[in-house]
Amino acid sequence: MKELKTKNSLDSVAWQQKEKKKNLSDQKQPDQVAQALLKWFYQNPRQMPWRVIGGAHSNPYAVWISEIMLQQTTVKTVESYFIRWMKRFPDMQTLAHAELEEVLLYWQGLGYYTRARKIHECAQVLIREYDGKLPSDRKLLLKLPGIGPYTASSICAFAFNQPETVVDGNVIRVIARLYGLTHAVTKEEIYAYARQITPKEQGADYASAIMDLGALVCTPQHPMCSSCPWRQVCTAYLKNLTDVIPVLPKPQKKIKKGYVYLIQNEKGAYYIEKRTKKGLLNGLYEFPWQDNELHYPLFQADGWQVLSQNISHTFTHFHLTLKVVYLSVKTVDFPLKTGIFVLPKDFQKYPFSTLMQKVSKCLK
Ligand code: SF4
Repeated sequence: MKELKTKNSLDSVAWQQKEKKKNLSDQKQPDQVAQALLKWFYQNPRQMPWRVIGGAHSNPYAVWISEIMLQQTTVKTVESYFIRWMKRFPDMQTLAHAELEEVLLYWQGLGYYTRARKIHECAQVLIREYDGKLPSDRKLLLKLPGIGPYTASSICAFAFNQPETVVDGNVIRVIARLYGLTHAVTKEEIYAYARQITPKEQGADYASAIMDLGALVCTPQHPMCSSCPWRQVCTAYLKNLTDVIPVLPKPQKKIKKGYVYLIQNEKGAYYIEKRTKKGLLNGLYEFPWQDNELHYPLFQADGWQVLSQNISHTFTHFHLTLKVVYLSVKTVDFPLKTGIFVLPKDFQKYPFSTLMQKVSKCLK
């Protein structure tokens, strides 16, 4: 990274103009483009607990776990979760035989808990049907629970060194700029462009390299083009379009509102329930809540008060804001029996969603 900073400090308008004159061609030469990137990567590799440089990872299980954790979560956040996970569930057997509740506990804080449930389910399928090993065939991978096109490509590249085209947010940006795509791009379109320059060999290193280029050099704001191995063939750079590319379609998220209930008994413990409905937060514990304007039916009578705090959380498809309602009860009179009363000091023993962790912080 030192080298990157030094090169970046040399960046200047004059330097850029000189570089542009050196432009070899508007045509991308796939081999040269890939080799230039690999050469840069070997000089600037990022170290990560799940990464091996110089070929395939010897442990496909580790690749799979890291790839699922990295979906919608940053590298920095995933690092400590991954290390902790690998200590507790070092292999497929251990994971498959663990209780789902413990798996969810180790996932707590990463969000999108369906991922953890699918990992657990998938480990059991792999033990039952694949001798506990991840297949190296993309089509077989796609049949497994929780493995979609992106994860299948990542496993093929990182665990089996195959020439797979891996397209994440970083790669979308890099490829859109490389090819000068000034319209709103789709993932399929980026995939088609990216595939043109994916080399037939060094699949693992190339996939790491293109992601690192997006994370370290071709950043969303102020890309460091002067340090980029593709500066001589990058259309966005050569045409001064780095500020306007990529153009991404904007997803519209719904806004939902509701109430969450902090129900405290005479011992200072709070009522929580295990969620059993199928869906997003299945298997996690939660304070009773509703994602609409209706009050929790039991408390339409007396005694509750709406606190000043609001809890906000953004899910994949909607924003949710909950008003916090407090109620003091006597355990003996309390009509709900499906949940349990737990002291705040013991909350850590129960897997909570990120939303419910935010709610529990109100108590402090
Ligand atoms: S030259 Fe600049 S815009 Fe083009 S790929 Fe490199 S960093 Fe990104």
